[in-house]
Amino acid sequence: MSQALRIAIVEDNADNRLLLTVLLEELYQIASYESGPEALVGLRASPPDLVLMDISLPEMDGVEVLSLMRADDTLAHLPVIALTAHNMRGDRERFLAAGFDDFVTKPIVDEEVLLGAVERCLRAGRSTS
Ligand code: MN
Repeated sequence: MSQALRIAIVEDNADNRLLLTVLLEELYQIASYESGPEALVGLRASPPDLVLMDISLPEMDGVEVLSLMRADDTLAHLPVIALTAHNMRGDRERFLAAGFDDFVTKPIVDEEVLLGAVERCLRAGRSTS
């Protein structure tokens, strides 16, 4: 059996972290972080195969964390999926333009949407890298 791919969850809400972990842990090895600064330290120490990034985080938001990742040679190539409660018109374009590889809205009603985005991004990797 090959080693499970690794997914890092960056999410400040404990319930959401738990839900994401439960949905993914049977297929993937999970690490989770509660804030951007904590995530940047952990991601550099142990880069995963994919990152799920909450947009609304204390201290620095997900867009800021992503821009720091993209400026870091160790993390620049990692696929990152934005997680956000906002589902306003234009959001998808805005987050993709910011450099996210995909976008999943919360609450996660249909786990297949999440799992589909995760699988697609893991297959594709970072298309621009
Ligand atoms: Mn949040």
